[in-house]
Amino acid sequence: MALIVGAALLTGGVILYILLPVIQGRFASLERSEDELTESEAKKRVSLLALRDVEYDFATGKLDERDYKELKGEISREALAALREVEAESERRRGGAAAERAGGIEADIAAVREGLRTGTTCHSCGHMNADGSHFCANCGAQLPAATETPPG
Ligand SMILES: [Zn+2]
Repeated sequence: MALIVGAALLTGGVILYILLPVIQGRFASLERSEDELTESEAKKRVSLLALRDVEYDFATGKLDERDYKELKGEISREALAALREVEAESERRRGGAAAERAGGIEADIAAVREGLRTGTTCHSCGHMNADGSHFCANCGAQLPAATETPPG
């Protein structure tokens, strides 16, 4: 019986050992996708490359001035539109990051409130002490928790 349990544990461990790089790899690839081009960034790049080609074709005499101006105007509009999209996208990303930071501040405030409620946040310096502390670890002031009548 013990042998079967041991074998099962071993099998579980081996499976985990095999799957771990796969799981980590998936997370790593999620992180990598941040660096990949978004659709609008790709569009911007394509437009800018097309613009460069038009400039080159005109310079080498492949395009006459009328075609050059027409193409350049068209591609410039596309490039500009893509550029605005890229800016809007990064704006959205920044907005998301700001919201996350706001969440962090909310969590900090909640922790301070909890400390004040339990009497472990120092009233003289604001240091958040561990649960059950009677004196501030930062400034040594007596904590409100210490004034409570000890149980028993
Ligand atoms: Zn203190």
